[in-house]
Amino acid sequence: MPELPEVETIASQLRAHGVEGKEIRSVKVNWAPTVEPYSAAQFAEAVTGSTIDQISRVGKWMLFSLSSGQTLMIHLRMAGSFAMEKGSHDRIVVNLSDGLALYYRDTRKFGRWKLVDDPQTILSKLGPDALTRQFTLRYFSAAMKKRHRMIKPLILDQGIVAGLGNIYADEALWEARVHPERVSDTLSDAELERLFKAIKHVLKIGIKNRGTSLGDGKTNYRQVDGDSGENRAEVKAYGKSGKPCSRCKNTLVKTVVAQRGTTFCPVCQVV
Ligand SMILES: [Zn+2]
Repeated sequence: MPELPEVETIASQLRAHGVEGKEIRSVKVNWAPTVEPYSAAQFAEAVTGSTIDQISRVGKWMLFSLSSGQTLMIHLRMAGSFAMEKGSHDRIVVNLSDGLALYYRDTRKFGRWKLVDDPQTILSKLGPDALTRQFTLRYFSAAMKKRHRMIKPLILDQGIVAGLGNIYADEALWEARVHPERVSDTLSDAELERLFKAIKHVLKIGIKNRGTSLGDGKTNYRQVDGDSGENRAEVKAYGKSGKPCSRCKNTLVKTVVAQRGTTFCPVCQVV
């Protein structure tokens, strides 16, 4: 599932492909629920003729700022991706000026494109993006101490910090040696600082490696050119139950925390 590093990778690759500054000449929506509440025809009419002025990212949202003043906010959800060449499962095709075309691919069909007048209608519900200056240790510590909930669902809560999903949450907790079921207001200042730094660290490494792909299936994350992300070698916990912990050599275990599969080291990550 695309998280902050995967969305950042896709956004920067679309910029590198020259999508910014291109005019939307026509749009073909093959799976109408993607653009709800618009119909496929309404959506195409609303965006055709606009220029994509800027591509940016907040948390797991990708934002296309349009010359019309509206913003196209894209959430890839389970398996959305972009390509510059036609493929299978293309749910939306955006034909651009200068002969470019953008193919939005989504095997699972859960991704959503929201055309909004003001992005704040969605962004105001999010906590600070995990890689911005607004996400500080002071903010993070206060947010954890004032709640009395398990730590893993809290760092997955986009209203507290935007960007983490299941992979990078498990990775950050492993890196910080914090058990995923620890109750937030029982973490020491040292543990909170380790976890805060680990969140930023695992996301930055994920971006540097152009995202994490854990399999070769069609639902797996792909870069814009179709390649897998290269962060797999850096993954220490997620999806590695039964394998030895690379820090203490004990066996990693999988459990369910707040309905999410969770892998951790029962020795390094103490309760
Ligand atoms: Zn360990």
